[in-house]
Amino acid sequence: MAQVYFLVADMPPFQASHAGRDAAICGSCPLRGRLVKSSSGANKVVERQCYVFLPHGPRQVYDAWRKGNYPEVDPRDGSRALTRRLVRLGSYGDPACVPYPVLEALLAKVGDVTGYTHQWQRFPELRRWCMASCDTPAERDAAHALGFRTFRIRRRDEPVLAGEGICPGSHEMNRALRCSECMLCGGESTGTKGDVTIIAHGHGANYFHRNVPETLDA
Ligand code: SF4
Repeated sequence: MAQVYFLVADMPPFQASHAGRDAAICGSCPLRGRLVKSSSGANKVVERQCYVFLPHGPRQVYDAWRKGNYPEVDPRDGSRALTRRLVRLGSYGDPACVPYPVLEALLAKVGDVTGYTHQWQRFPELRRWCMASCDTPAERDAAHALGFRTFRIRRRDEPVLAGEGICPGSHEMNRALRCSECMLCGGESTGTKGDVTIIAHGHGANYFHRNVPETLDA
């Protein structure tokens, strides 16, 4: 699949996160963590729950882009490059940071797409390609009210809810399928109705398992 990264242009991803500049590409996503002052007076992020490890993929893509390894293209030309491709919107960052007409032009000829947004309340039009990223059952209900299908992360002790299927790419499903074989997470564009759930995983999962659902429900 073609992987789409949304990056802050003038600062590496890890530094942008610790400066709070990642709001430009992740909006108010609660998994970004909380910005605090360290004892030296510098900003730092605590309680980050995002599964993306910034020094890996995002940093590599950022460095390659800064070196000029990615050509600059008009979205309409980009759509030619993506013709009939499988595309993942948001290997890092939220598609909501891009104006809708740009996404529409870019994805005009795409094969199938997967996408995720935590900004579903502000940008309901993204339900066309994106799952609403939800962290609690209450958020899932609210996203349904806006017409979204949902991708909900849950704690190990939380049940799978009616209407949800477990992501077949997850460890709990023994990684039965890859996204490119599944492609369920394409919002309305898939023509299917079901939701997806997965046990919180990746870099910030431990903090989620300890705290997040209660925090968000409060
Ligand atoms: S449900 Fe399918 S498309 Fe969505 S994350 Fe899991 S494997 Fe990928």
